[in-house]
Amino acid sequence: MKDLIAKMAREGYEPGFPDSMETANHAIDAELCTNSICENCNHVGLIYMPFVDQTSQDFRAFSFCPECGNAEEL
Ligand SMILES: [Zn+2]
Repeated sequence: MKDLIAKMAREGYEPGFPDSMETANHAIDAELCTNSICENCNHVGLIYMPFVDQTSQDFRAFSFCPECGNAEEL
């Protein structure tokens, strides 16, 4: 997960959400990740990783596998 955070930091993103985004939307996405299967190792239960560019308020989110470290952009 550190690799993903470092990679996103280089692109100007930090973990978090845009100010304008509804909290309920994140809860739904986090729930979906919890029930998702890793495409790489078939591990069940992925971690929701939201990132925001605080300058542009651009938002990107990933599902992160705690088992193999695979990250997929949502
Ligand atoms: Zn995996």
